[in-house]
Amino acid sequence: MSGKLKYYQFVLGCQMNKSDSERIAGVLNDLDYQQVDNETDVDLIIVVACSVRQSAIDRIYGKLRQWNKIKKQRPLVTAITGCLLPGDKKKMKTLFDLSFDITELAELPKLLQKKSSQLFDVKEYFDLHPTPESAFQIYIPIMTGCNNFCTYCAVPYVRGREKSRTSRSIIIEVKEYIDKGYKEITLLGQNVNSYGLDLPNELTFPELLKEINDLPGDWWLRFVTSHPKDMSDELIDILATEKHLCEYVHLPIQAGDNETLASMNRKYTVEHYTSLVEKIREKIPKTSLSTDIIVGFPGETPKQFKNTVKVFKSLKFDMAYISKFSPRAGTVAANLADNISPHEKKKREKKLTKVLDKYAVKFNKQYIGQTLTVLIEKSVKKDNHFELSGKTRSFKTTRCNSQKDLKGQFVNIKIAKATAYGLEGVIDGN
Ligand code: SAH
Ligand code: SF4
Repeated sequence: MSGKLKYYQFVLGCQMNKSDSERIAGVLNDLDYQQVDNETDVDLIIVVACSVRQSAIDRIYGKLRQWNKIKKQRPLVTAITGCLLPGDKKKMKTLFDLSFDITELAELPKLLQKKSSQLFDVKEYFDLHPTPESAFQIYIPIMTGCNNFCTYCAVPYVRGREKSRTSRSIIIEVKEYIDKGYKEITLLGQNVNSYGLDLPNELTFPELLKEINDLPGDWWLRFVTSHPKDMSDELIDILATEKHLCEYVHLPIQAGDNETLASMNRKYTVEHYTSLVEKIREKIPKTSLSTDIIVGFPGETPKQFKNTVKVFKSLKFDMAYISKFSPRAGTVAANLADNISPHEKKKREKKLTKVLDKYAVKFNKQYIGQTLTVLIEKSVKKDNHFELSGKTRSFKTTRCNSQKDLKGQFVNIKIAKATAYGLEGVIDGN
């Protein structure tokens, strides 16, 4: 190909989409396309869509208007993949030049070029090699899809049923990145606790973690997401004992009221969730605990919301992703009356954020005076120093200044200041 074609990816949503975008980059870079980080002068734009919230879909329509204007002036191919509900998919198909399911990524070259390409023998989505954005952090999908059908959630409709990747293929990929010097591996799945159950004689999730943990080197291991109904004692034990696994548990509760949980089809109770947290904190005293929560679920009464606030106060999460309910077409909850006003949803979001902030500050202040290892993710050059920021094992964003650009390295930082959102300190003995 003479002169590389340029492409830009517009990626929305969760880490699973980010990981998919790195696999898309792998396919396109093999075709001699070059990835750029802005839309000017590109030949191809690929959207990795997210249907989990309406706001992401609205952003795509906004962008499309701009791209259609560009198309009138010069050739530009627009493509869309990712998570799309059937209604959105139908519309997008007519608005984009091409659309494909992420599981058909190996077919992308065929779609882009009429001629054959070196990639046609690659058939499995999991086997496509990513081109990671980072040289030290990588997201590795271990399964796709979900069987749980929480009533608000688009994922089972847009990603299909659970499909695990073989442990062999996962371990080979993890090893490859550790050998290249990667410092942080994050395993991805919508419900990692049911990993392997769809494959004959496959390892369970705790067994997989143990195998991966046995790989030597100085690196950290994380995973998302655990479903509270499936989190086993075995998994908690492994989190407590295996050195590569970080002291950070993300366990979405979604609501702190049993009736709301039942109408969300979450299949656990507040009591069960609380007992899990007690076990986790007993076995991993230093752990950080984060959660996801939805406010304003259809029919959520003031009393039910109060129960959620109560649970927030008693469990003292130090991190939480709070979302206002938004109906997703085709899900069960979209047929329920979305009867909590936007104003009330906002109010409930603010109330929970206030409670969260109080405990987050308290939790984060315990680190003051301690020296923590931080994986530096960003380094910004200032006049005579670099401003660094990264994450601790407990997933706390931490800043410090340095004479050197230490991006991608583990740095010991003595913590001097803590807020609800992160830590600050000075380099300790590097
Ligand atoms: N598999 C994960 C979550 C995937 S979706 C789990 O089981 O927890 C990520 C988060 O988006 C969810 O945890 C939920 O809090 C939020 N979310 C999903 N659908 C939503 C909706 N319709 N409205 C508001 N928030 C939603
Ligand atoms: Fe969605 Fe529930 Fe599956 Fe998570 S477990 S992806 S919230 S259906």
